[in-house]
Parts: sequence; structure tokens; C-alpha cells
Amino acid sequence: MALSTDQGDVASLRDLIADASQAVVFTGAGISTESGIPDFRSPGGIWDLNKPIQFQDFVASDEMRREYWRRKFKVDPVIKKAVPNRGHRAVASLVARGTVCAVITQNIDGLHQESGIPDDKIIELHGNSTYATCLDCAERYELEPIREAFLDHETIPICQSCGGMVKPATISFGQQMPEDAMRAAEAHTLNCDLFLAIGSSLVVYPAAGFPVMAKQNGAQLVILNREATELDAWADLVVNREIGPTLAAATGANVA
Ligand code: NAD
Ligand code: ZN
Repeated sequence: MALSTDQGDVASLRDLIADASQAVVFTGAGISTESGIPDFRSPGGIWDLNKPIQFQDFVASDEMRREYWRRKFKVDPVIKKAVPNRGHRAVASLVARGTVCAVITQNIDGLHQESGIPDDKIIELHGNSTYATCLDCAERYELEPIREAFLDHETIPICQSCGGMVKPATISFGQQMPEDAMRAAEAHTLNCDLFLAIGSSLVVYPAAGFPVMAKQNGAQLVILNREATELDAWADLVVNREIGPTLAAATGANVA
């Protein structure tokens, strides 16, 4: 059943979106759970089973790198078969309308791109899981040959150009943030009149610094998440609801 738009918070969200001319959408793992990708912190997720491997551990030993690739190839099929859901489509409709000028995402699943948002409107703060790069010379590597070699002999990939370590193009805890993405995210954050934080527990920094930056710079801050977040006190509006139906109702987009 469709969520009633008579609910005050959803109506307020709809009004804020209607009044915005330069909005930024900031997303976390919560926008992709409806697509079947478990989030990070809700219980029972695939990430719940294992503590994430820190960057310094990845570079420290063959054994950790092997474990990292083992986990990656276990999680990959879940991400590969996922398709964008109502939440992604509602965001895409706001970008197409010109209301949203940038989507800053912590997600690595590529579903915003798949929902039809042009690449130049998407800022990936934590990288992308669909390819790998050399940590030394940044050469790009496709995953399939790496996967085959790994499944055959648990061979850990090494850069063919420089001998450096090859790692999925995602940003691990402890790894340096991508400079271009951080710069672009900051510029859009400082330029927006509405900042919509959607499906993030807002505990992972520096990403979670952007909602506060937007608010301090005079933008309206909305947090849409099914549970409380660390930054609720900063928000002009907190909407504790399911993302897909709420965004569908608040954007009026035909995304069912
Ligand atoms: P998180 O797991 O810390 O927070 C997700 C939040 O979304 C939770 O508070 C949860 O209650 C809420 N949520 C989940 N489904 C929801 C729904 N349908 N409606 C409303 N709320 C919902 O995720 P985070 O803040 O993005 O931080 C986790 C880190 O792990 C990120 O940096 C990200 O890079 C990575 N990650 C990415 C993916 C992905 O790409 N899909 C998945 C898991 C983890
Ligand atoms: Zn290299």
C-alpha cells in the first residue's frame, strides 16, 4: 500500500524539495537495501559477519589480501544482480528535473549510475567495486581475470606495469579519500540550498561531515532514514521512514 502523503513529515519533505533549486542528495547503504544489498550496520547483513579489513592490514600481509579478495568475491554476486529501486529512481527524477545538481554517495554499488543519472552528476566518495586499481601507479584492472586466477589458485593480483598491489577501487577504512571526489563534494555542498541525507547512519567520516557543512553554510538539512542518526540534532527535518515509498511520495515521481 502506498504511504499516505498526508503525514506531516512527508508533506514537509515534499515542500522543501519543491522550493529547492540547487539540492544535493547524499546517500548511504540504506538506499540500496530495497535492491537487496544489505547495509553495513543493520543486523544480519553480509558485512555483519566480518569486521571490515582496514587499509593498513590489506597492505601489510598476503594473508589479509587473500582474505580481502575472498570476501569480495563472495559479496560481488549480490551487488551484480541488484537493480535500482524506487528510491534511486526518485533521485534520478530530481536530477532530470534539475532540482538536484549532484548526488554524493558513499555507496560502491553503481546503482545511481544504473538508474540513469549521468556520471558527471555522481560523486563517489568511497570508490567503486566494479573494477580494481594498482595502489602505486593507479593502472586499472578488470575484475574477471582477477577472479578467475583467484578462484583457481587464490593468486593475489600484482600490477603488471609496476609490481604494485592491486586492490578493488573502493576506499577502505584507513585509506586516503579520493581528492577529486572530496573537492567536488565540498563545492556542491557549499553551493546547495537543500541537502538531503538519505539512508546513512552518518557515522563514517569524513563523509558524514558534509551534512553538517551544508547546514553551517545555510542550507536546509533533511535526514531520511528509518532510524535515528548521529546528526539528527542538526537537521531541519528528520523523516524516520522507509526510503523508497517516502521518496516516491515526496517527489511525486512516477517510480513505482
Ligand atoms: P550504514 O549501514 O551505516 O547506515 C545505513 C542506514 O540506512 C541505517 O541507519 C539503516 O537503518 C538505514 N536503512 C537501511 N535500509 C533502509 C530503508 N529501506 N529505509 C530507510 N532507512 C534504511 O551505511 P552508511 O552510512 O552508508 O555507511 C556504511 C559504509 O559501507 C559506507 O561508507 C559504504 O561505502 C559502505 N557500504 C556500501 C554499500 C553499497 O554500496 N550498497 C552497502 C554496505 C556498505
Ligand atoms: Zn602499478
